[in-house]
Amino acid sequence: MTYDVLNPATEKVIRSIELASEAEADAAIARAAKAFETWRDVTPADRGRLLRRFADAVDADLEHLAALEVENAGHTIGNARWEAGNVRDVLTYYSAAPERLFGKQIPVAGGIDVTFQEPLGVVGVIVPWNFPMPIAGWGFAPALAAGNTVVLKPAELTPLTALRLGELALEAGLPPGVFEVVPGKGTVVGNRFVTHSAVRKIVFTGSTTVGKQIMAGCADQVKRVTLELGGKSANIVFADADLEKAAAQAPYGVFDNAGQDCCARSRILVERSAYDRFLELLEPAVKNFKVGDPSDPATEMGPLISAGQREQVASYVENPAFQGTAPSGPGFWFPPTVLAPADDRALREEIFGPVVAVVPFADEADALRIANDSEYGLSGSIWTRDVGRALRVSRGVEAGNLSVNSNSSVRYSTPFGGYKQSGLGRELGPDALAAFTETKNIFISTED
Ligand code: NAD
Repeated sequence: MTYDVLNPATEKVIRSIELASEAEADAAIARAAKAFETWRDVTPADRGRLLRRFADAVDADLEHLAALEVENAGHTIGNARWEAGNVRDVLTYYSAAPERLFGKQIPVAGGIDVTFQEPLGVVGVIVPWNFPMPIAGWGFAPALAAGNTVVLKPAELTPLTALRLGELALEAGLPPGVFEVVPGKGTVVGNRFVTHSAVRKIVFTGSTTVGKQIMAGCADQVKRVTLELGGKSANIVFADADLEKAAAQAPYGVFDNAGQDCCARSRILVERSAYDRFLELLEPAVKNFKVGDPSDPATEMGPLISAGQREQVASYVENPAFQGTAPSGPGFWFPPTVLAPADDRALREEIFGPVVAVVPFADEADALRIANDSEYGLSGSIWTRDVGRALRVSRGVEAGNLSVNSNSSVRYSTPFGGYKQSGLGRELGPDALAAFTETKNIFISTED
């Protein structure tokens, strides 16, 4: 079975991809299971060296990978370069891990006690279409560093960069089978990762609905699972903040990647006394947001990923307060849109498009009440000049990634993940290896 991959900015077919069958998924899992027998015993220094070579290969191919993502996902060229660079950086960061995968020595009576961090086996990584490269890398880089082998399933809509990363891994010298890329349908290949007993862990990023199915499927084998799911993050702006800066940056916090970002600050909560002024400042920032050809370095936002996604996003927009512009003609375009006021559905559901709701609040307690009135809890921002308030509110928001006077959520060296229905577990940062290892405890008697 084949799948026609489209360019979302032109609606033209780029390439036809062969989708793997269940038998082909089984064969890839078998190759990864076989490769695990030797990959786990590659010395730590050599495993680190191979991951650095993989990072170098990604770096050397950065412009090509970025161009593929512009074409396949409609990402702006600036974003796409950052995304390929992020894969390189995550590989480099975790290339230091094999030699630092420390256990513990624990004081006990009658002998010594040591722990080892051992790899799990084959890890299945299932990736969505919104950030095909970074999300894949956050799974496979630490998994490989910890001594696991990986089977990676890209989203049906966006397989091209994953396939290229598979080639680069081989060119860099990773043994065949260590990193298998298996393009295919979620219900076939993704589901097989869940049901196959040789796959010992699933790293899933995607919608909360599918995430719940994956978690239920994993329960059958008590399979380890990390979930990175949806979000409805709040950008909380207090009246004492630098309002000009908060308003100028708010569009980037929600319209980046055309709003198809699980961390999108899709609710802007503004202290009532500053609400009108904030909207006045936001309007020109939204109207001047540059939407168009994603390969133009000046472009700030490209198209949505598909016609279906555009239809879905449009269903939330009835009487916008104001909108930016978008090209007409072919391509899945949608203009940056501000809802003020917004209805309950737009305030609660993840829109996953360039639509933001702006909501007034009375005081700190009210801001927290509104921010936490969501089944999600992934990220958020707090804009204020009061350090005490910044910390109080950051601690009060039920979300995994908060930023103060900034809308950026992701750094490869710090943990990333969600509260509540935004996910389970953490990726990135110094502790990610724990999610890809089992702790083994060994007691050695010293008695005669
Ligand atoms: P999706 O859940 O439809 O698909 C995600 C992946 O799962 C795809 O590869 C798909 O083929 C696969 N899949 C689908 N059904 C499956 C099944 N039954 N078994 C196994 N695999 C299956 O999500 P999407 O539409 O591709 O991505 C958008 C969603 O991803 C949004 O809700 C967004 O919030 C979320 N997301 C979350 C994060 C995060 O880190 N929290 C990051 C990016 C995207």
